[in-house]
Amino acid sequence: MDKLSEYTNKRNFSRTNEPNYDGLPYMPSDKLVYAIQHHIARNEHYDLRLEWEGVLFSWAVPKGPSFNPKDKRLAIQVEDHPLSYKDYEGVIPKGEYGGGTVMLWDYGYWQPQSDFVGAYNKGSIKFSIEGQRFNGKWALIRIKENNDSNKNWLLIKDNDEYALNNDGISQYDKSIKTNRTMSEIEKAQN
Ligand code: MN
Repeated sequence: MDKLSEYTNKRNFSRTNEPNYDGLPYMPSDKLVYAIQHHIARNEHYDLRLEWEGVLFSWAVPKGPSFNPKDKRLAIQVEDHPLSYKDYEGVIPKGEYGGGTVMLWDYGYWQPQSDFVGAYNKGSIKFSIEGQRFNGKWALIRIKENNDSNKNWLLIKDNDEYALNNDGISQYDKSIKTNRTMSEIEKAQN
């Protein structure tokens, strides 16, 4: 799949245990997958992933998402990931692309509030999340500095009943998949 060539080219699948593209034809479903991974690599960040047309659109959020609508969190769009990445958790070997520890931090479904392609091209995506830890309405707003292909976006929580007046993410330091901490995931690998 062409959309995943950047993902594939960046990785050596004889070394990393991250999923390779499985080659299965894309089967659209009623609900779109959403996931967040906490990733401690050279730089610590959270990866937000939203399914669209058979891949996971991905943003690296250095400070992590925030439950507080006053926070505008930088979200740097990175290469599309295969759908099978949605529940990946593990350790990427040092020296490999993204080398470090990955925890599945949240998981569920998402829905764009309007035509996604139009919203993406305009640089203003309003969407809702139906996850375990994150719910309600969110927005991704592209920062237009030089041009529309800018990879830098802002991730903002909408002011709804799920909003908090603090960042709210540090209360969750364990995997949504295995209930392990970062150091437990790291140790289990060796
Ligand atoms: Mn990452």
